[in-house]
Amino acid sequence: MASIFEAVKATVPVRAAAERYGLEVNCAGMVRCPFHEERTPSMKLYEDHYFCFGCGKHGDVINLVAELFSIPPYYAACKLVGDFGVDTSAEIVHQPAREELRIFREDQLRCQRVLCAYLRMLTEWKTQYAPIDPNAEPDDRYVEACQMIDTIDYLTDLLIVGTLEQRVKAVDLLLADGKIDQLEERLRLLQEKERTEEIA
Ligand SMILES: [Zn+2]
Repeated sequence: MASIFEAVKATVPVRAAAERYGLEVNCAGMVRCPFHEERTPSMKLYEDHYFCFGCGKHGDVINLVAELFSIPPYYAACKLVGDFGVDTSAEIVHQPAREELRIFREDQLRCQRVLCAYLRMLTEWKTQYAPIDPNAEPDDRYVEACQMIDTIDYLTDLLIVGTLEQRVKAVDLLLADGKIDQLEERLRLLQEKERTEEIA
């Protein structure tokens, strides 16, 4: 399934969005830039991006709508899906924005859950495996804890208190290349091992 961003960019030309949202496009495919004061058009609209020769603003159709309405890119994409009837996949034709949002919330919760579990483990490792002998090679778990705690702590915070845009970006990053799947599986195996050791 294509992401909502990909589906929108592949379906809605920049010019169509510009016209729909009230920009006057001249025969050269240019508009008066909505982002700086001007009398004659200096923003050029291309099929998949725009560029203002006056102020340098540029971006794709989602950036344009986000800027025009001062909304985060994810909302801009949802707006375009609604206004242009973008088909993001068979099952989400009727309620595209709501369905995408539901999937995103699920992904977000899952990332939060896995990161929190990882963070708890790292915090334990940092004290449990702290080197006693300063000359000895430190335990791998201690090293990992020292390297990762700040990053994971930051990401966990971001998922909880970040803006929608930050959360969408963080979730995208975590889901990319199955990162969160791998981490979840690793945590599961570690917990299993711990349980077996406790029994033994
Ligand atoms: Zn401009």
